[in-house]
Amino acid sequence: MAASLLPTLLRNEQGVDIMERLLIGDRRPVGRGGVTAVVEPATAQPFAEVSCASPADLDEAVATAKRAFPEWAALTAVQRADLLYRFSDLVRTHAEELALLEARNVGKPIGDARWEANHVAETLRYYAGAADKFFGHTIEVKKGGLDLTLHVPLGVVGLIVPWNFPMVIATWKLAPALACGNTVVLKPASLTPLTALRLGELALEAGIPPGVLNIVPGPGAEIGRALAAHPDVAKISFTGETATGRSIMATAAQTIKRVGLELGGKSPNVIFGDVDVELVAREALASVFANAGQDCCARSRILVERTVHDRFLDALVAAAERLVVGDPLDERTQMGPLISAKQRETSETYIAIGEQEGARRICGGERLDRPGYFLRPAILVGGRPGMRVVEEEIFGPVAVVLTFDSEAEAIELANATMYGLSGSLWTNDLKRGLRVARALRTGVLSVNSSSSVHLQAPFGGMKQSGLGRELGMHAMEQYSEVRNIYFETQAG
Ligand code: NDP
Repeated sequence: MAASLLPTLLRNEQGVDIMERLLIGDRRPVGRGGVTAVVEPATAQPFAEVSCASPADLDEAVATAKRAFPEWAALTAVQRADLLYRFSDLVRTHAEELALLEARNVGKPIGDARWEANHVAETLRYYAGAADKFFGHTIEVKKGGLDLTLHVPLGVVGLIVPWNFPMVIATWKLAPALACGNTVVLKPASLTPLTALRLGELALEAGIPPGVLNIVPGPGAEIGRALAAHPDVAKISFTGETATGRSIMATAAQTIKRVGLELGGKSPNVIFGDVDVELVAREALASVFANAGQDCCARSRILVERTVHDRFLDALVAAAERLVVGDPLDERTQMGPLISAKQRETSETYIAIGEQEGARRICGGERLDRPGYFLRPAILVGGRPGMRVVEEEIFGPVAVVLTFDSEAEAIELANATMYGLSGSLWTNDLKRGLRVARALRTGVLSVNSSSSVHLQAPFGGMKQSGLGRELGMHAMEQYSEVRNIYFETQAG
């Protein structure tokens, strides 16, 4: 295996300092699909070159994963767990390197990237522990007979991941997939392939057999699509845009593939007037502008009870103006740049659309006077149903505030979207909290909290935000098939 070049990563190096290739089995072949430059969003300069898979390379990766499957699936769950524990330990040892790579490649603050690298290690550890605790049932079906269920791996699974949380989302998928005994072909996003490739190397170093985890960077429209169409791939697990999810589902239908989809969101943050308004304003800020708003769970629709609207806005704007936007590698930074020039332009376009629709920008939306794709967090007020900024996912640092007068109106506004991924609800009235929590149509909801993700609990969307659940033991169900076997025990 070619030695990794990543330890040479240094902030002050000039030009391109990383050359990356595919990972197929234990080989690092140059892809036949050309070379893509990986840009550092904080400088707008390329800092890596990655060679891309061609359709023939993808076929080779799938064939390699298929060959590796019988041996990997035949290991006992405890043997697979041991290897995943070693993988987790290696990720922990290399957490700083992974964090630095992710911070530079995505533009996220180094503190957030460190948290994510440790979360990757914890996710691997969780599914190492899950491997031998996931089993079938025995069922009484009729007198004298015995019925039992077995959970069996699917085979080769294809994983397609986005650029906003590259190593975290890759691990949410590959850890349960491997724990269940599947082999994997992973296609990272073209903008952010680096940490996935490094994880693949660490998996090999941990002793996970060659071919069990293969990584194929390449353009989604060609390589992602070919993975979704491949007859030897049993399941596609995808995170990304709703429109891409629709196309993957249609492609996968041709071979009746299992499909898991984590898609877009326009999540509500419902704030009743009985809360500590200043505290909730700070929380609301974090839950929409973390990762520069490039988060499928971003609570980008803030619904505030009219009685506290003005006080809440004052606190929100004050907090937004204090937010430190800047160099992701500076420890004080709270918000880095957007991932690309295109993503920043999309956010700016939505701010302009919102203003044309009658919303008022009360802060943010300006670029920083320095290279890189920086944009100060923008808040629009006077949002109403029907406005594009209220209904469409922006995936950037743009929040829109709406008001409501009653509990019923809050519920109606919160649910008036094709999405149903995440959300928050703030109230000190326990009965109201329970009523509204039940009425909101989101896969994930936090009451009096901004958190969306708990490793041990299911994560995923309702409506057009997705299909299936990740994390917790639910993910183990998504990467296995239930077989039913009946034993006749009556003589003769
Ligand atoms: P995309 O859907 O464009 O891309 C996601 C991945 O799919 C990338 O690896 C991409 O490859 C690949 N891809 C693109 N087109 C196809 C295709 N036709 N067939 C197969 N694969 C394809 O989304 P973004 O990367 O732009 O991510 C932003 C979007 O993802 C947002 O809408 C956001 O809401 C959503 N998202 C949802 C999450 C969730 O958990 N629900 C989490 C994170 C993001 P390439 O990079 O080469 O284009």
